[in-house]
Amino acid sequence: MARISQRLAGIAESATMAISNKAKEMKASGRPVISYGAGEPDFATPAHIVEAAIEAARDPKNHRYSANAGLPELRAAVADATNRHSAVGVEGSQVLITNGGKQAVFQAFAALVDPGDEVLVPAPYWVTYPEAIKLAGGTPIAVETNQAAGFKVTVDQLEQATTDRTKLLVFVSPSNPTGAIYTPEETAEIGRWAGERGIWVLTDEIYEHLVYGDTPFSSIAPTPELEDRWVIVSGVAKTFAMTGWRVGWLIGPPDVVKAAANHQSHCTSNVANVSQRAALAAMTGPMEPVEHMRQAFDHRRRTMVSMLRDIRGVSVVEPEGAFYCFPSFEAHLEAQGGRYESTLALAADVLERAEVAIVPGEAFGAPGYARLSYALADEDLEVGLERLRSFFD
Ligand code: PMP
Repeated sequence: MARISQRLAGIAESATMAISNKAKEMKASGRPVISYGAGEPDFATPAHIVEAAIEAARDPKNHRYSANAGLPELRAAVADATNRHSAVGVEGSQVLITNGGKQAVFQAFAALVDPGDEVLVPAPYWVTYPEAIKLAGGTPIAVETNQAAGFKVTVDQLEQATTDRTKLLVFVSPSNPTGAIYTPEETAEIGRWAGERGIWVLTDEIYEHLVYGDTPFSSIAPTPELEDRWVIVSGVAKTFAMTGWRVGWLIGPPDVVKAAANHQSHCTSNVANVSQRAALAAMTGPMEPVEHMRQAFDHRRRTMVSMLRDIRGVSVVEPEGAFYCFPSFEAHLEAQGGRYESTLALAADVLERAEVAIVPGEAFGAPGYARLSYALADEDLEVGLERLRSFFD
């Protein structure tokens, strides 16, 4: 008998975590590493949210277990916000509060995917989806997009990847790792297609407020043809600079939410009450701090795009949302006469010799590319890109 179960032995470490851990180790040993690895804002959580948490920590009612699906006030506030932004008509009872959006992703797949089911995942994709699908017994089916298409999948590509085992489509706009946003028309077209095919949609809306260009955020969930075959996952981490507080949610039809809540009741029970109270302050408080952060990200986005375009052999489409650039380094690969056999090898060399951490595209199902987060301080952002420019010169 194997020591480690087959289910877990097949799970890879998160590549984004791996690269940022390696960068942190190098920094701890005194090396001046600049990391574009982690997908988290460098800002402190806005003060009114922190104050709400301090108050909550002093109140003994928050020292106890609470309802496993989440504090009713927070579930209601999330439902309100989602009804406003995503144009769905949900009740608080359709919201399950989870330990971050990541847990919501796991619980959604656990609730919907059976062994043998196929799940369409447009590539490049966020590293966690395929692993979470496999843990649920499903088979991730990557549907490749490319830079020329702005990393957006088409209905034709989805249709070609569909079989009679296809249960679900993962839809992420704005996207991690590419920053692509689907227009409202593209979103509705994909929603209609999925609805007519009887395919469920998991829509990850965690970057809905981080949008910079002319394309507005639009949710796929209210597409009429989908009826009730959709699940939204999201959270406070990216919008409110709250990655460390671990509050996310899953929203969907009552039977899915019930199944996921039952699962959660055996895994983690309720999310920390102090964090939930902080999230409640975030969801019901002023949005000005978010707008300030959005503007700072927009500025960094422009700087990063223009500095990346100055690096020899690098091309990049301007991202319209989230906080990542996803440039191509293909000109530096052996296949095109370059030095590296893969972007994995390129990223390792860049980390070792230029002391800059970037996440190789292999982690996102897109060899030849790399992800750079621009959610870091302006000065570091420029110093690291300057290092990359001289490295490739
Ligand atoms: N979805 C996407 C697309 C993400 O990029 C992330 C964070 N990297 C999450 C969900 C989960 O975020 P958290 O668990 O911190 O809420």
